[in-house]
Amino acid sequence: MDSVNPMNVLKLLEENYKQLFQLDGQPSEADKQLKGLVKEFMDIKIIRAGSSSLALEEDLQYELQTDMQTFDEIEKLVAASNQLAEPDENPSQEDQVVEPLSSGTEPSSNEFYVQRIPNPKQPPSNAVTLDYKKRSVDFWRNVATKKRRSLSCVQTKFKKVTSIRQLQEWERHVAEGGSRYDKLKALRLETGKQFFLAKQKPHIAKDMDIRRWAVTANRTIGLVGFTASPDWVGKLKRNYGIVDRKITKFVTDKYIQEAPQVKKTAEECVALVRSRISDYGLDCMWNTDQSGFDYEMRPGRTLHLAGAKHVLAICQSENSMTHSYTVMMTISPGTRKFLPQLWITLQEDKGVFGPIVARTMFKADNLYVTASASGKMTKKLYLEWCEKILFSHVEDRCILLADSLKTYSDQEAVLEFKPEELEYEMITIPPKVTGDIQPLDRLFRMYKDFFRKISSFIILHSLPLQVHHRDVILKMHSLVYQQFARSPRFGDLANQAWHLRGYTDESFDYVNPTEFSFPKKLTGHCDHQNWDDRLLLKCGWCKAPLCFHHFYDQYHLCKIYLP
Ligand SMILES: [Zn+2]
Ligand SMILES: [Zn+2]
Repeated sequence: MDSVNPMNVLKLLEENYKQLFQLDGQPSEADKQLKGLVKEFMDIKIIRAGSSSLALEEDLQYELQTDMQTFDEIEKLVAASNQLAEPDENPSQEDQVVEPLSSGTEPSSNEFYVQRIPNPKQPPSNAVTLDYKKRSVDFWRNVATKKRRSLSCVQTKFKKVTSIRQLQEWERHVAEGGSRYDKLKALRLETGKQFFLAKQKPHIAKDMDIRRWAVTANRTIGLVGFTASPDWVGKLKRNYGIVDRKITKFVTDKYIQEAPQVKKTAEECVALVRSRISDYGLDCMWNTDQSGFDYEMRPGRTLHLAGAKHVLAICQSENSMTHSYTVMMTISPGTRKFLPQLWITLQEDKGVFGPIVARTMFKADNLYVTASASGKMTKKLYLEWCEKILFSHVEDRCILLADSLKTYSDQEAVLEFKPEELEYEMITIPPKVTGDIQPLDRLFRMYKDFFRKISSFIILHSLPLQVHHRDVILKMHSLVYQQFARSPRFGDLANQAWHLRGYTDESFDYVNPTEFSFPKKLTGHCDHQNWDDRLLLKCGWCKAPLCFHHFYDQYHLCKIYLP
């Protein structure tokens, strides 16, 4: 599909309507409603034209459900509505840290320290600001005379003070730059503010960004043990009324009428593949699919966008798509499961790698790396894929199941690259049912999940690596593909992907690679010295727990399988 320019469409519409209508003052409610419908429809067309719908799949955007102009206004509203139910008051397991003990200089009250149980009916006494604590403690300590004031004296000026013990506690809070509560609040404020600022600019904020802001803020705030867990992020989002906005599929009346027909073509496609399998066996069947991967943005980078404010949402989606590269994977329901090489098409300005880049860039046996100006597969690249990847890894007979992309449609050109002795057939998945019967569909999402775990780790721990850099991306895919697609532990995943779509009868108990390699609790330590034991994953081959350095820097392309 050609690209769509909404301004051109408006111009054309104007041509049509100006014969019949004239502008008349303020738009009516009915005008606004119709505009909303038309815009929704156009947005989807624009997004579709900009890229294959696959690139959007995992793209969540957030919408702040408020019209307020400043962060202070939002924060005031949040504070007012949350007085009785501070979200920070019950920290999640992961963020739970023990109240720090006071440091020796003061008479210790730890012996009779009793953990307070917050009374949900009353605002927590913790709601006293750090500033208030500081002022009352200063007044109590009475720096001028160096003689502490009495409790009753302090209470006349600071009504919230209840005991000397409380003042001692506050004193400690002040010395530590705030209690755990204060710090959580500061983290919430700082992260919320970052989110608000990000939404003022054309920038897509994801969970990852929120976590990064929080972890960065905590470098100053210093709450021990704070990791900005997904749980905490969830609470923060609820706190500020941030909701996920997914670009939904626009269902036209035509589509609904077509539904029974669609079902039939899906069934026909599955039936055709099944009959080929019964004639020629499983090993000649292959399914290929491509998926767009976002280049992760540099922290704090502001995207520059042209265009008026009201098309912002569209620009955001387009922008995230134009900064992407393509990964193409191929699986079989037979014994070979995955092809030995992963195809990658990177986005390079001139559509090719410069001579120096071509010579020095990261290379690996399990990758086949190409470039295009868009970062998408072109017809020429598809032919190269057929010749260098598919045909060079199959023998005798090959039946390829792929979706109905235009890129794949010139099968005559493909035949020019086909080896003489190879029997080759392509079966096209009918349009609109790809999501239902494409074996690779869900599997690709799992691969992305695995990949993201590692890029998130890099960002969260501020490792000195640029996750959007060509060499980093390639090295990561090489390592991830070796784990995900080449470890005997996970291979049944490919067979099960075919079974779940109805192509084969046998069901497989597969091991989920992400669950295996990134368990909730990763224990043990790797052999590497001089590393502070931050484990990244458990190797899908040798089962060793590995730190980032061990896995990535040392290029752990494991081939030792321990069942
Ligand atoms: Zn290590
Ligand atoms: Zn290993």
